[in-house]
Amino acid sequence: MRLVLFGPPGAGKGTQAKYLATHYTLAHLSTGDMFRAAIKEGTPVGKEAKSYMDAGKLVPDSVVCGIAGEGIENAGLNQFILDGFPRTIPQAEWLDDFLTRHNADDYVVVSLKVDVELIVERLSNRRMNKETGEIYHLVYNPPPADLPTQVLLHRSDDQPEAIRERLAVYEADTAPLEAYFRGKNRLKEVDGVGEIEEIFERIKAVLD
Ligand code: ADP
Ligand code: ADP
Repeated sequence: MRLVLFGPPGAGKGTQAKYLATHYTLAHLSTGDMFRAAIKEGTPVGKEAKSYMDAGKLVPDSVVCGIAGEGIENAGLNQFILDGFPRTIPQAEWLDDFLTRHNADDYVVVSLKVDVELIVERLSNRRMNKETGEIYHLVYNPPPADLPTQVLLHRSDDQPEAIRERLAVYEADTAPLEAYFRGKNRLKEVDGVGEIEEIFERIKAVLD
């Protein structure tokens, strides 16, 4: 299975991707996680990505397509889930071209639908385990009580100003992709509001 998880920041892509990766044995390819790892390691890609990410802007397409392609190839071109890629029409066109060239162009897009007010609430309460990448929400999916607080990261792009910027970027550059995927008959829309497990069941229902 080749799966693209699509949706605004905070829609629950990372949360659902972890469940789906385990259930269907898929490699979880998150471009955001790849950039955060590159920043931690101090690589040239990390250095280039950091200023864009902190400002809530998109990293340039050429950089993103490079790391996404590497991830897909490392996953064996099959059995992967893309989380947070593609995010622009040129990225989607690049992906179509890349997969076609590798005889692997059959993929499905699951779009998680969540309203803006809920997104702001989800992102401002998101916390991440710096060491494992585990995602929490202070209210809906709280971190274990014995987890040391210094391990919990409040992402710099989950601060109010960067959240506003990311939502504006989503509307301008990413939302138009829905029509692109619909036009290619790849789009499955799923209501992203409800309990985490409930949404997981909805996604499985459209995939099976
Ligand atoms: P979110 O939780 O908002 O979906 P991610 O962890 O997926 O965030 O991405 C964090 C940041 O990494 C984005 O705001 C952007 O700066 C950068 N990034 C990740 N994926 C892409 C992409 N496909 N295109 C451009 N920038 C990206
Ligand atoms: P994305 O990868 O799309 O940016 P995340 O999976 O990181 O989204 O989720 C954003 C925040 O919302 C996290 O704090 C997460 O714990 C929380 N969250 C995810 N799914 C749900 C849900 N169904 N109900 C409530 N909170 C959720």
